[in-house]
Amino acid sequence: MKKAASVKKAASAKKAASAKKAAPARKAPAAKKVTVAPKKATARVKGAAPAKAVVHPPGDESRTALVRRARRINRELAEVYPYAHPELDFDNPFQLVVATVLSAQTTDLRVNQTTPALFAKYPTPEDLAAANPEEVEEILRPTGFFRAKTKSVIGLSKALVEEFGGEVPGRLEDLVKLPGVGRKTAFVVLGNAFGRPGITVDTHFQRLVRRWQWTAETDPDKIEAAVGALFPKSDWTDLSHHVIWHGRRICHARKPACGACPIAPLCPAYGEGETDPEKAKKLLKYEKGGFPGQRLRPPQAYLDAGGKPAPPLGAG
Ligand code: SF4
Repeated sequence: MKKAASVKKAASAKKAASAKKAAPARKAPAAKKVTVAPKKATARVKGAAPAKAVVHPPGDESRTALVRRARRINRELAEVYPYAHPELDFDNPFQLVVATVLSAQTTDLRVNQTTPALFAKYPTPEDLAAANPEEVEEILRPTGFFRAKTKSVIGLSKALVEEFGGEVPGRLEDLVKLPGVGRKTAFVVLGNAFGRPGITVDTHFQRLVRRWQWTAETDPDKIEAAVGALFPKSDWTDLSHHVIWHGRRICHARKPACGACPIAPLCPAYGEGETDPEKAKKLLKYEKGGFPGQRLRPPQAYLDAGGKPAPPLGAG
């Protein structure tokens, strides 16, 4: 399934790239709608005439302009992370739902180091439903909150066996009834195991969409609705991967690497993090094992001759 998923992702990224090439040039927004909020962005814009290099302050950004800016950000991220995918390892919907529950409060890497032993011992919902909790706890200990997680994965396995014939259901309303499964986990499963569009509002997604001022909402369900309204449904799953990958690699919570960010010209929060290109470069996070399939351009590629963030490639 992983292999098929990557092929699908590659095809989808390719399609997005060619669609981008074919798209007509975008009209620059009217000058009167352009006001520049962040000081550093203002300084950058002075030297760069094209409107495409201007950050749009959401305060006076029209709905249409917001939709365009949001979709441009997603297109740029699709180029930077063409193979963005869920970073949890799984071979079937059961493994994905369990791995997603285990990923709470820990890293996907840690979960990926833990699940092979779990699924080797308990390959099906029936096996896990009948497991000795203490033995499961021992396996899950490295993921943190292992007692609660053990309860959840055994509980959800029992529910799968008793209510869904041992199969993971493909409907949101059924998934959210499973112990330990909220809307976030449900959308991960729907989008990646069933190919049904869903927005995954995790901690990265929440932080980034607020930085981009796509929405001021703080409740995950409201964020999901607000962001969903900016994009066609067919974009939702890939959009979630792009945003989460960007949050993990460049736009970190404490030290966003603004000086090495490919979407700096479209970001109202530019300057919230390190803007010096060399210092920003050091903040980029390369996880253990590298960036599978990732095509992150070198940070210099995002800067113009004056060392200011350049317009995104292919923009305008
Ligand atoms: S790294 Fe900086 S410029 Fe890039 S998206 Fe985050 S806040 Fe915006």
